[in-house]
Amino acid sequence: MPYVVTEPCIGTKDKACVAVCPVECFYEGEDQLYINPEECIDCGLCVPECPVDAIFADDEVPEKWASFTEKNVSVFSGDAPPQKAVPNS
Ligand code: SF4
Repeated sequence: MPYVVTEPCIGTKDKACVAVCPVECFYEGEDQLYINPEECIDCGLCVPECPVDAIFADDEVPEKWASFTEKNVSVFSGDAPPQKAVPNS
C-alpha cells in the first residue's frame, strides 16, 4: 500500500520527508507534496519525519482526508503533473 500526503502538508511543504525517501518518490506540487504511488516501496521511513503528521499509509488515511488518496494518484495524470521534489539543503 503506498503512502499518501494529506491536508496538513498544504502550505507547509517542510520536505523533511524528501531527504529520507530511499526511492525519491516525492514530488512537489503548487500547494503540497505528493507521493507517486507507482514508485513508493511502502517503507514508512517518511512518516515520523513529517512535522505536521501529514503522511499516512493509504489504508490509514483519516476519513476527513480520504480524498487525498485519490488526489495523490490523479495528480500524476493531470495537465500539470508535479515535479520531482528536491530535498532542503
Ligand atoms: Fe518514500 Fe518510503 Fe515514504 Fe514511500 S513510504 S514515500 S518509499 S519514504
